[in-house]
Amino acid sequence: MKLADRVNKVKPSFTLEMTSRAAELKHAGHDVINFSAGQPDFNTPKNIIDAAKTGMDNGHTKYTAGSGMIELRNAICDKVKRENKINILPDQVLVSNGEKQSLYLACQALFQDGDEVIIFKPYWVSFPEFVTLSDARPLIIETDAQNNFEPDINTVLAAVNKNIKGIIINSPSNPTGSVWSQKTILELLKIAKKNNWVVISDECYERLVFDGEHIVSQKLSDENNIDADIITCMSMSKTYAMTGWRIGYAFGNNEIIKAMSKIQGQATSCANSVGQVASIEALNGDQTTVDNMIVIFKQRRDYMINLLNKLPEVNCLIPGGAFYAFPDFSYYIGKSFHEKKINNSFDLCEIFLNEAHVATIPGDGFGAPGYVRFSYAIDEKTIEDGIGRVEKIIEKIN
Ligand code: PLP
Repeated sequence: MKLADRVNKVKPSFTLEMTSRAAELKHAGHDVINFSAGQPDFNTPKNIIDAAKTGMDNGHTKYTAGSGMIELRNAICDKVKRENKINILPDQVLVSNGEKQSLYLACQALFQDGDEVIIFKPYWVSFPEFVTLSDARPLIIETDAQNNFEPDINTVLAAVNKNIKGIIINSPSNPTGSVWSQKTILELLKIAKKNNWVVISDECYERLVFDGEHIVSQKLSDENNIDADIITCMSMSKTYAMTGWRIGYAFGNNEIIKAMSKIQGQATSCANSVGQVASIEALNGDQTTVDNMIVIFKQRRDYMINLLNKLPEVNCLIPGGAFYAFPDFSYYIGKSFHEKKINNSFDLCEIFLNEAHVATIPGDGFGAPGYVRFSYAIDEKTIEDGIGRVEKIIEKIN
């Protein structure tokens, strides 16, 4: 039996791997502190859960329209108009099984062999894999911590070539938590327009912006008459603590949306019906629990960054959004713990996990050697305990 070459082209999701290793240790009875989670620790708000229960009782347990229930696509249009200040029609919207599927479909619909797609480093682990699975080539462009991990426009201009077909942007970013400036996003949109690139704008952390307002790429393009081709991808997962419901959506040019919907129709038919009913309530219903969650995340961010920056030889920028801190531990790479050399951030995170039962995500996996991702989707007391354990480990590194 020989598997298709495609399987070898793609890397497994190591963030999911770290999360499951932490779960295994916990299951084996260890007191694990988990900074690896990519999801809110809160349960889905009760009004959303109740709407799902009522929806099931009312028979919303069947296939829906392939691109999503019209009631949900209408609710998305209303939300996008109200919160993001963009006017779209329901046929410009595709509802998928999580935003991850929307992003995958956008790459499948747009890219092919011979194309290149710009991705900024540090990147969310799935971006290069989506591009590779479309047979295109990721064109990785470095960003710098000193520049808030924002793309440098001159570097982008220097990389322009005729094979580039698209660019993926992600602000607020996973893993850095960085929120890019309006100026940077505007420049990227102009370059994309000039070179006929499609912009895939991953805005799943849109509500988790702590200092200032979220910048919506499509709105910025509209306001400045840029007319860039943008597919915006958003998610119910992070804002509404609905990661397990698997509902995300994309909107933009309806020709591209239709192409994505065509592929989705043959892959999964439609997104799950109960999640779609719940999402209508999430978008239209009471937002108090979401607003409270955002306040708590901001407090935790400040608390965690302060503790991380007190660790010897560790530096951490203040992330403007999402729920990740991305400190630089590169001082400890190349040193030793119990006579064993730490070659990279994978080794360092392995020590944190095995010796202190603290789960983190190594920056190398995001293309950022020396960095470690800490999620603050856990309470302050646990944050304090966990960073205390990390401190005891790094004291023993020499
Ligand atoms: N984009 C980024 C940057 C993410 O971090 C995630 C989830 O971790 C997603 C997309 C996918 O979200 P969803 O749960 O809607 O598939």
